[in-house]
Amino acid sequence: MQLIYEKSVPGRSGVRIPLSDVPKAAPLPEGLRRGQPAAFPEVSELDLVRHYTNLSRRNFSVDTNFYPLGSCTMKYNAKIMENVGALFAGCHPMLALIPGGEQLVQGPLSLVHGLEQQLAEITGMDEVTTQPLAGAHGEMTGIMVIAAYHKARGENRKYVIVPDSSHGTNPASAAMAGYEIITIPTAPYGDMDLDAYRAAMNGEVAAVMMTCPNTLGLFNPHVAEICAIAHEAGALTYYDGANLNAILGKVRPGDVGFDVIHVNLHKTFGTPHGGGGPGSGPVGVKKGLIPYLPTPRVVKKADGSFGVEAHPEGIGRVSDFFGNFGIMARAFAYITLLGGEGLVEVSGQAVLNANYMMARLKGEYELPFDTTCMHECVFSASRQLKEGVHAIDIAKYLIDRGYHPPTVYFPLNVKEAIMIEPTETESKQTMDGFIEVMLEAARMARTNPEALHEAPVTTPVGRLDETRAARAQQVCCE
Ligand SMILES: *Cc1c(COP(=O)(O)O)cnc(C)c1O
Repeated sequence: MQLIYEKSVPGRSGVRIPLSDVPKAAPLPEGLRRGQPAAFPEVSELDLVRHYTNLSRRNFSVDTNFYPLGSCTMKYNAKIMENVGALFAGCHPMLALIPGGEQLVQGPLSLVHGLEQQLAEITGMDEVTTQPLAGAHGEMTGIMVIAAYHKARGENRKYVIVPDSSHGTNPASAAMAGYEIITIPTAPYGDMDLDAYRAAMNGEVAAVMMTCPNTLGLFNPHVAEICAIAHEAGALTYYDGANLNAILGKVRPGDVGFDVIHVNLHKTFGTPHGGGGPGSGPVGVKKGLIPYLPTPRVVKKADGSFGVEAHPEGIGRVSDFFGNFGIMARAFAYITLLGGEGLVEVSGQAVLNANYMMARLKGEYELPFDTTCMHECVFSASRQLKEGVHAIDIAKYLIDRGYHPPTVYFPLNVKEAIMIEPTETESKQTMDGFIEVMLEAARMARTNPEALHEAPVTTPVGRLDETRAARAQQVCCE
C-alpha cells in the first residue's frame, strides 16, 4: 500500500482555506520563518478518505472481530461513551489554571473529582489521582509516592519485592523509581511462594508489588496475610489493578490491606486502547499516603464548588493538566451508567466467560494450573509442540479464521503460553465460534501441521519480525 506522501500531486488539495481577513501584522522575524514550504502531502479529499478507510480495514479491532488478547481486556466500548468524550472537546485544558477560570470549568472539574471518588469507592482507597497516562505510568507514580512516604519518615529502603507472576511492568516501574527488585518464584499451586516471600521480607523492603489476579489469571488467596507480613516489616503494599474486571464489586483491594493501587481505565472501565494510547492509569492510596500524591489536586470547596489546589508535599506533576481528560470522561460515563449493580454483573460475566473458555478447551490444550480462573485462562501449547506446532502457529492460524490471537508466550513462566481473555461483552455464540477454531487447530496439529506453519495466508503480510517492525520504523517524510 502506498504512503499518503506517495499519492501527493503538486497543487492538488482537499480543502479551500478562506482568505484571511485579519490585518497583516509586522512580518515574522527572519529566524522564525520556514526556509521551505512544509512537506505536506497534496491530495484530494477522496484520495484522503480512501487512504484512511483502506488503512482502517487492515486494522483488527473489537468493532469488527473477537479479540481475546489476554491481559489486555479488549472489551467492547459502547459508542455512547464516545459521545460523552466528545461533549468536552471544546474545553481548553488551561481554563482551570487561569485566574477566574475555575468558574468556567465547574463541570469538567466536578467530573475529575467525581471519577476520583468513584474509583476510591470501587477500590477501597481513600483518595485517587487521575494524572497518570497509562498503567505503567500509574505504577511508577505509585512507587514514587511510596518512596516519598518512606523518605518523609527518614527511612532509606532499598528493595521492592515482586512475584514472578506479576506483570512485566511491575519490576520495571520499581527499578525506574530507583529500587532493586527481589523476585519471588511461583509455587506449584500457581501463586507466589509464601515461604520464599516471608524469608525475603525485612526492614529494607519498601514495598511488595502484586498483580492481582496474577498473570496466570489466578487470585492469590493469601493476599491478606501477604499484606500483614509486609506491614509488620514497615513495608507498604502495592496492588496492580490494571485489570479489575474479575473483582469489580466483589472485593476491594483497600479492604484486604493494600495501600496503593493503580487501575487502567483503558482496560476495565470501557475506554478505548490500542495504537499506543491514549490511556489512563489513576492511582489510589490510603490515608497516610495522600500528602504525597501528585500536584495539583481537584478539590471540592465548602460552598460545594470545585477548585484546583497545589499539593506542596506531593511528588510533583506526573502529567499535564489532570491526565487524559477525554478518557476520564468516558470512564465516568461507563461507571455512572452501569452503577454498582452493573459493575458486579461485569465481573461475574467476565469470570464466567473465561471459565467457560477454559472448560471447553482443556480437553485439547494443556492447562498448567487446572483450577477455577478469574477473568482469563492460560493454556500451554506443549501437547501441540510434540507435533512441531508452536503457540505462534496457532495464533497465526486464528488470524486466517477471523479471530485476533490470544496473547502468546506470556506469562513467561508458562512454556508456549496461550492466554485467553474473552471479556464480559462477548456472547456465548461468539465464544463458541472461536472455540471451534481452536479445537480445529488442535486437530490440525496432529493431522496437517504444515498448514499451521504456513499461516497466515489471508493477510497482506505474513509473519513479521515484530521487534524490528516496532523499533526500526520507516520514516515517511523528513
Ligand atoms: C496492561 C497492564 C499493565 C500496563 O498498563 P499500560 O497502560 O499498558 O502501561 C500493567 N499491569 C497489568 C497487570 C496489565 O495488564
